[in-house]
Amino acid sequence: MSCELVERDLDAYLDRELDAESSAAVREHVRTCAACRRQFAQREALTRLVRGAPYYSAPDRLRARVFAQSTRSNSMRRVLTWAAAAVLVLSVGAGMTVWRPASSRGNVIANDVVSDHVRSLMADHLFDVQSTDLHTVKPWFLGKLDFSPPVVDLASIGFPLVGGRLDYVGGRPVAALVYQRQKHTINVFVSPERDDPSTRDLVLTVRGFNLHHWIHDGMSFWAVSDLNGAELSEFASALQAP
Ligand SMILES: [Zn+2]
Repeated sequence: MSCELVERDLDAYLDRELDAESSAAVREHVRTCAACRRQFAQREALTRLVRGAPYYSAPDRLRARVFAQSTRSNSMRRVLTWAAAAVLVLSVGAGMTVWRPASSRGNVIANDVVSDHVRSLMADHLFDVQSTDLHTVKPWFLGKLDFSPPVVDLASIGFPLVGGRLDYVGGRPVAALVYQRQKHTINVFVSPERDDPSTRDLVLTVRGFNLHHWIHDGMSFWAVSDLNGAELSEFASALQAP
């Protein structure tokens, strides 16, 4: 079983929703893979924290609102459950700062980001400009957008820039920067900050894809990939470094 599959199945495993065979496969992989063991420990700790504190359970009204927003799938519902749990964990000061509540606007954009990512891979339209040279990629956007996206190459730490294209997120034109990690593609959507402030600094999994969202220097960034959560976090941190 690969790290990607473990990442995808981890929540279901912790929720005891996997069949015996898949459970055994996850268990066996986690036993032998340090990265996945770390992920597993973090999620298990959060699960235990939430389950072990019944008096933190969501007020019915909040729960109803959160679930009303989840119309799509189990995985989306799970994301929202985690988000709701995280609100409560944060509110009691447990210090889990990476998990923030996603506003409904954030969820809509997150879904859009995943759809764009999938489409870019399926329709074979990953690039308008294909180059590993940021001095080729950055100027390409001139005259095509009313902003200039910051473009950096992260080849030195194993995330080479491979190109870019124009795309749309939430009905607005965005710069899509494309990075590679071995066989995995990372799309980074950049646009001027217009988001609701409550959508800042999100770490989400939507339909099996990992997402990071942050705001920097007035620009909104969404990074999305099938890459495992730990490596995408490493990528997002490097991109946010000044
Ligand atoms: Zn692994």
